[in-house]
Amino acid sequence: MENYQSETARPRAISLETIIYRLREMFGEDRAELASGGHFCVGDERERAVAFPSNIEELSEMMRLASGEGWRVIPAGAGTWLEMGARPTRFELVVSTAKMNRALEYEPADLTATVEAGTRLAAFNRKAAEDRQFIPLDPFGDERSTVGGVIATASAGPLRCAYGTPRDWLIGVAVVHADGRITRAGGKVVKNVAGYDLCKLYVGSFGTLAVIAEASFKLRALPSCEKTAVFYSRDAESLCSLVARITDSDVQPAAMELISPYDEASTLLDAEHFALALRFLNDAETIDWQLEEAARLGSGLRNATLGGSDAGEFWRAYQESETSPRAEFILKLSALPADLNAFIADINRATPRPPLRAHAANGVVRLRGDDRWLDGLKTEERLNKLAEIRRLAQARGGQMLILRAPDEIKSQIDVWGEVGPGRGLMRALKEKFDPEALLNPGRFVAGI
Ligand SMILES: Cc1cc2nc3c(=O)[nH]c(=O)nc-3n(C[C@H](O)[C@H](O)[C@H](O)COP(=O)(O)OP(=O)(O)OC[C@H]3O[C@@H](n4cnc5c(N)ncnc54)[C@H](O)[C@@H]3O)c2cc1C
Repeated sequence: MENYQSETARPRAISLETIIYRLREMFGEDRAELASGGHFCVGDERERAVAFPSNIEELSEMMRLASGEGWRVIPAGAGTWLEMGARPTRFELVVSTAKMNRALEYEPADLTATVEAGTRLAAFNRKAAEDRQFIPLDPFGDERSTVGGVIATASAGPLRCAYGTPRDWLIGVAVVHADGRITRAGGKVVKNVAGYDLCKLYVGSFGTLAVIAEASFKLRALPSCEKTAVFYSRDAESLCSLVARITDSDVQPAAMELISPYDEASTLLDAEHFALALRFLNDAETIDWQLEEAARLGSGLRNATLGGSDAGEFWRAYQESETSPRAEFILKLSALPADLNAFIADINRATPRPPLRAHAANGVVRLRGDDRWLDGLKTEERLNKLAEIRRLAQARGGQMLILRAPDEIKSQIDVWGEVGPGRGLMRALKEKFDPEALLNPGRFVAGI
């Protein structure tokens, strides 16, 4: 597979022990570790050197040391999703923000906060809940996921239906570049952007442009009540029609997830049927009106309502099941929301009984491997099936990302898919930001 970086970076051969020795000597015993097993595992390496700066200045010094020595660096947060993307080519050091986890400024009255990038999003939201506020992002993944990781991967979950993605909530960042320079973009207040909003450039950059060190967010008031309505049907079509009616109405769910009976999450509901789960976050009176209106729009379909803790429980279990280690494959497909029903029918024709779930309002469909499906096929059949599903998405103007797959598959197929005309621009940005190609080499689209 094409690799843009391997020619540019030529580090001197150095042992992991020497790297750790150098880091400990300069920054202290607890700032570097020789990790093995799954801990900060990037690819198939047996062991790796991991550095843990405690603040932006230390991060900057570590990056200066690394670039001076020509060490290639994998930026990391908690390290829960380092498998995502193409296998990076060789690297010398993982730099984790896990010890950079302070809230630097939090002004409940202004609905803004600035935190270090290693702050766990879930932990921050628990704290902000004391002031009835939250950053309205619920990315799939681990409780340990850091703010920096969520920004770098542009991670969003079911709540993107109402609240969008990290791009919508990030207002500023401080980053450390490959050579150790610190720069800031955006600000700490909501209305401070004139011209091009550079901080958004880092959203979804997968650690290939710079290490995110600090991030400022807008916050949202935490709704006082929550309920979930679930509609059931034997076919996806009736539920897709309901999605279209809801989208055209005054009903405003915070999340709208379509779940097939072949998906692992269906066991949380009625495992026999397709389900459409609508999450409502609002005050009690508004929610009751929205539930009534949704029931009217979905009349003829069986439905059930989950209140308070049951609803919260369902969404937690739903998120956990997304990242369960059982599936060998996780695919993320996109299509126009208006094409959702036709797209699901395409997938169903190509590969019957697909274990799928969709952010129905956004046209994002996820497929997860299981024994009867992609996980259960031989390598050649898997590759053919993946190519076929990718063609289906592309035919509808969408794309297919491979979020998880065994190494033997990743080495034979581009996990990102075709980037199109943006390719040249992305390479030019990489060249500008990281000319020595030291950050996350080879992980991202177009071999970046
Ligand atoms: C199995 C699984 C499936 C997931 N599926 C989805 C999904 O479908 N959609 C989705 O939106 N999210 C998904 N997530 C992502 C989830 O939100 C991640 O857990 C979170 O983004 C990563 O947090 P982390 O701190 O562990 O990041 P890490 O795993 O440490 O890093 C993840 C990526 O971000 C980069 N990175 C991390 N921190 C920084 C930083 N400070 N500066 C620059 N780059 C950085 C890393 O280089 C790496 O490329 C999934 C997670 C898991 C475990």
